[in-house]
Amino acid sequence: MSTAAAVPGPPRLIEHVAELRRRLGNRREVHRSIEAHGFALSASGVPEGAEVHLDGMLEAIPNGVVVTGTVTVPWTGECRRCLDETHGDATAEVREIFDLHPVEGETWPLRGDELDLGPMVHDTVLLTLPLAPLCSDDCRGPAPAEFPAVPSGAAEPGDEPAADRPAIDPRWAALDDLDL
Ligand SMILES: [Zn+2]
Repeated sequence: MSTAAAVPGPPRLIEHVAELRRRLGNRREVHRSIEAHGFALSASGVPEGAEVHLDGMLEAIPNGVVVTGTVTVPWTGECRRCLDETHGDATAEVREIFDLHPVEGETWPLRGDELDLGPMVHDTVLLTLPLAPLCSDDCRGPAPAEFPAVPSGAAEPGDEPAADRPAIDPRWAALDDLDL
């Protein structure tokens, strides 16, 4: 027996669309969920077995189906400042086309009367997970002096943050811009 753990592929999430595609413009709501296994980046990931939800609409278009909606995913990760375990929910809007003649990197395949939402949801999750998680917006990190709540010299260590937003080291401010 091989001891190498097989990395599971994206789960399948099949929708049958023969009825939907009888007429252009037909629409149908879609509410599906899949269990996440191995959905992870280096700094954050979906708890093993947690559910990822897709809520949206399918609509028949020429040669395919367009899927619009929202993907909601729970995540855990390590706060980039204090390194504590932290968690949250992330959401992403999706608008994707499933096409009888898919274009690599642009549209997803429609095979006969079936489309598989699994790979789309999987890829959306990987684009949505935080790259640099924070336990809270005003986390001061393990060394508050490096994340002063007010300009240095004005605060004693342990003071509560002032009402003003804490001053942030410009190196970390760049990371803040990554938040979606
Ligand atoms: Zn933190």
